[in-house]
Amino acid sequence: MGVEILQAAALPPAINEQLLRDYTVHALWQAEDRAALLRETAGRVRGLVTSGSVGADRALIEALPKLEIISSFGVGYDPIDIACAKERGVIVTNTPDVLTDDVADIAMALLLDMMRRMPQGDAFVRAGRWPKERFPLTDKLGGKTMGILGLGRIGQAIARRAEPFGVAIAYHGPRRKPDIAWHYYDDLIAMAKAVDILMVACPGGKATEGLVNAAVIAALGPKGYLVNIARGSVVEEPALVEALVQGRLAGAGLDVFADEPNVPEALFALDNVALAPHVGSATHATRRAMGELVLNNLAAHFAGKPVLTRVV
Ligand code: NAP
Repeated sequence: MGVEILQAAALPPAINEQLLRDYTVHALWQAEDRAALLRETAGRVRGLVTSGSVGADRALIEALPKLEIISSFGVGYDPIDIACAKERGVIVTNTPDVLTDDVADIAMALLLDMMRRMPQGDAFVRAGRWPKERFPLTDKLGGKTMGILGLGRIGQAIARRAEPFGVAIAYHGPRRKPDIAWHYYDDLIAMAKAVDILMVACPGGKATEGLVNAAVIAALGPKGYLVNIARGSVVEEPALVEALVQGRLAGAGLDVFADEPNVPEALFALDNVALAPHVGSATHATRRAMGELVLNNLAAHFAGKPVLTRVV
């Protein structure tokens, strides 16, 4: 019997096959009776494979006395109890960098879709309305200012894409980055007041929960746009929906939601929103690269080498 791994989340098929070849895998994500599987295997499990949406809570980590490593599929690790992993000396790895470009692409796609009403234009043509009607004029992206909330790997990749569109960049985060020339706001409300577009790209989790609240949305104002490719938890969703419905915000582009896959139905009727089903990193190439990083982190650890992308 090889090293025993508990698998809490699904992986791309080719990656899953490799995992099954390399380890003795207990598929918690497919188990009908999770408690029984855990009772049977928990004492022998040395590795946990999970994802940025499934995570690993304290109860699961503490149920695995021999756990050495949590290898997570995704860069965001907000649903993993990092404090618990630290206490127990469990290594946590994620999959940064390999997904940055795809997520930044989706951020720009949502922004353009929403501002130029591309989903509505597509529906308009398909419905045969073009010969009879004119499609309404929309808003221009060039000349706008974008405030990025969380100027990390993805935030910077979005900024690099937005600049050639003629968009001026500013950012807010816990600290000013001395090597970056873009204007830094130490106050989120002040930034929201000053910019046309608020781009949410910070981590999820307790520290950023509801950071984009009613006051921030009010500061962005009726001509302001919001794009969220980070986590649904960062934005106070009821306040956002209310502002959109009441016309107190010009529009929103959303890849992430508070209670995925459930999306507030009030958004479905609005022309000024572009919606995506959490597909920031969802290309074949990137999902494969993320999966390979999950496997490579496990392989490095069980070969006694340093892991590649360690969180703690
Ligand atoms: P990253 O490089 O760690 O960047 C995160 C940035 O957020 C950092 O610049 C950090 O500031 C900043 N930050 C931390 N706490 C903050 C706070 N309280 N307020 C404002 N900013 C804060 O991570 P990344 O690779 O860019 O990924 C960012 C997030 O995107 C992930 O955590 C994940 O939730 C999300 N994501 C979404 C998708 C999708 O499919 N939609 C895909 C991948 C990732 P410092 O640099 O000062 O620490």
